[in-house]
This record gives sequence, C-alpha cells and structure tokens, in this order.
Amino acid sequence: MQFRKVDSRFPDFGVNKKQEINRLIYEISKKEKILPEKIFNSLGSDNFEAVKKELLKRRFPYASLNDKAARPYLPKLDLDPKNSFNKNKSKFTPRKIFIEKSAGTAHLKNNFKAFFPEAEFAEIESLKKFIRDNKKPGIAGYNKRRDTIFLTNEKYDFFKKCPCTKGAAGCGYHIFNLGFGCIFDCTYCYLQEYNNVPGLIFPLNIGRFFDEFKRYKKPGMRIGTGEFSDSLMLDHITEYSPAIIEFFRGHKDATFEFKTKSSNIDNLLRAKHGGNIVASWSLNPQEIINKNEFFTADLSERLASAEKCAKRGYKIGFHFDPVIYFKGWEREYNMVIDLLFSKIKPGEIAWISMGTFRFKPELKSIIENRFPENEILDQELLLGYDNKLRYPYGLRLEIYKFLLGEFKKHSKKLPIYLCMEEISMRQDLR
Ligand code: SF4
Repeated sequence: MQFRKVDSRFPDFGVNKKQEINRLIYEISKKEKILPEKIFNSLGSDNFEAVKKELLKRRFPYASLNDKAARPYLPKLDLDPKNSFNKNKSKFTPRKIFIEKSAGTAHLKNNFKAFFPEAEFAEIESLKKFIRDNKKPGIAGYNKRRDTIFLTNEKYDFFKKCPCTKGAAGCGYHIFNLGFGCIFDCTYCYLQEYNNVPGLIFPLNIGRFFDEFKRYKKPGMRIGTGEFSDSLMLDHITEYSPAIIEFFRGHKDATFEFKTKSSNIDNLLRAKHGGNIVASWSLNPQEIINKNEFFTADLSERLASAEKCAKRGYKIGFHFDPVIYFKGWEREYNMVIDLLFSKIKPGEIAWISMGTFRFKPELKSIIENRFPENEILDQELLLGYDNKLRYPYGLRLEIYKFLLGEFKKHSKKLPIYLCMEEISMRQDLR
C-alpha cells in the first residue's frame, strides 16, 4: 500500500525512506481518523529527517517526550483485504478431522465423532509428515484453522519451561503441552505469528503425559495448559480436565492451572479435586473483550464461572494480561477489579498476574491484516528492552501502579506478579 502523494511530493527519497513515511502517515491517519491528505498538507518540510521527526512526534507524542530509549518499528505497509478475519463465523464446526495412525483406538476419537458428525475423518501417517507435505498456512490459512482438527499421539513434546522473554524477571512457570491452537480469536494473540499448523491439535494419549510428568516434576512446581491453547475451550469434548484433576490429586506438591476465557466449567464443578488446582481467567474490560476477544465468554460470565469454582473449593487465578491502554482505561479497569472482588474473596485467590500488551514485531502486520479496524495498534507501541513492541516504560509503570493501587483497596496481601516485564519495573514498583 502506497500513498501516491509520497511519491509525487518526495521523488528523491529512496524506497526505505518512502516506506517509513508511508507507514507513519497510515498509522497517524488511522489513529486520528483523518484522511492522509490532511497529514500531507500539514507537513512543513521536504527534508527526510525533518519530515520523519515531525511525523514521529505526532505518532508517538508520549514516547517523544518521555522515552528516548524506545524505537519505532516501521515495516512496509502490506495489507491484503483477503486476509481479514470473519467475526460472524462464531460457531465452531470443523470440517476435517485428521487422526494420526499411531493414535490407535483412543476413546477421545469417539467424542469428536459424536460432536462433529458432519466432519470428514481421515487417517494420516503423522502430523509432522502432514506439515512437511503441505504448504505453510500463512494469514489466510490461520483464518481457516478452525476447519481442521488433528488428533495426535504425542511422543516427545510433553512439557516446557515457560520461555518468558529475554531479560525479564521470570515466574518459574511450566507448560503442560497438551494441544495447540485455539477456537477463540483475540486480536493480540501471539499464536497468529507462532503457529505453523493448519488446524488445532489435540493429543489423544493424555496417559503418556502423566507418565512423563512423574519424571519431569519438581516440588512446588506451577504448571498449566493455557499457554498454547485455552485450557477449557473444548473441555466438554476432550474431557482433559477430569483426568488432570484426578492425576494431580496424587501430586499435591505441584499446582496445576486451567487458564481460560471460556465459561466451560461443568467438568470442573463435577470433579473431586485435591486442593492443588487453580482455575484462572484472563480479564479485560467488556469494551476490550467486545473489540478484541472474539467468541470468548463475556466478563460477567467469566467472573460468574470463577465464583462457582471458588464455591467448589478451587483456588482462583486472574490474569490482567494483556492490559490494553485506551481512553478511559482507568475507569474501566477499576470497574473490572471492583466486579472481581464483588464475586471472589481475596483469600480464594491463588495469584494475579499483570502484563501490558506486548508482542513480537512480526505480529504487527498480521494483526493489521486480520483485524484492519483494530484500535489496539493505534497506541504508542515501540521496540522495548527485549525487541518486542510495548508501551513506553513510563506508561507501563503508570498502568501497573494504578492497578496495584486498585487491588490494594481490596486486600494488601494478594499474590501479584508481573509477566514478561523487565527487572527494573519490579524495583520501581516497590
Ligand atoms: S484465548 Fe488465548 S489462545 Fe485463544 S485466541 Fe485468545 S489469546 Fe489466543
């Protein structure tokens, strides 16, 4: 995408310079909801450095004044309307279900057959071979991923240490790698960039995970399934949670977390747990959910589910992650926190995490293509200490201070931690 006026007004600028000016004009025009022409007409110079400086100041006013270390990321504008996401397709109805040959006769297969009788079932040699033989999904392929399911027989990749981010204060979390991909569609989801599978993966051999866990486990470990998927989105079909809860009754020195944006908790309510299970929800103001967390449960449904789980004796976790900065954010996040504590007592909370919106630069163009009307990219997101795009340091500090203040109004003893933040942030919040 090129604004023709850039070419005619700055014919001597090289390709990269034109690309940067194009990108800045596009972002300013989108953010300020004005035509690009108006921005052109307001430019006071024809010198590249001066034009860029003027545009950067307008695009990133906070960072220009307060965060000299932050760097802009201005990739080529590459928008294709064919890549845009269809939010009307909320019903999850996979058309093709592939089963790895070595998966045998696991009963979970039957559950998928019962729930999706219209789907076509086919056996494949292995998912690895399938990926090798088919082309990478790309953005359009990601949009179609919900059409395809892979039922697999996991052999190697059972657990991982949460990779966190370079230079951050880690929280020691572990990932129980039971499946990959999500039926929800959050504008900010990092899986959009991370994914290389043209569908959703559900391992059929959960028993093998349990065998391997006995070797992997360390006392005091926190582990969960919500990193590469939503822990409960299809729990009524996979029936993972009853098996996990039962298994962890025998491993009380570890804590297992189900992390979700759903209200799919019936299996949790039925199960007899051993006190070491945390049911947790990611929370955001309803306005952010409406615009960014498609097909997920509403805020009130998430909190009602949390309340029911707390009544069944589960410890409850909350993830304010990603916190999104927008006009009126204080009031909206304040309402979320007040609502949370109207349902859940401080003593029922296992942990609360906080992390502001951040992402790898490669995700920017994917979000722009899939969600051209998004507002989350309009804020000041610049390359930070770990080369991810983030809000400027001072703004993040302000957000965390505000949230901590709101939490403290309800209890001073809440276990709160920061997710993927630099070490100095923790010190500055003391
Ligand atoms: S619920 Fe989580 S995994 Fe699913 S799309 Fe949203 S961010 Fe991604």
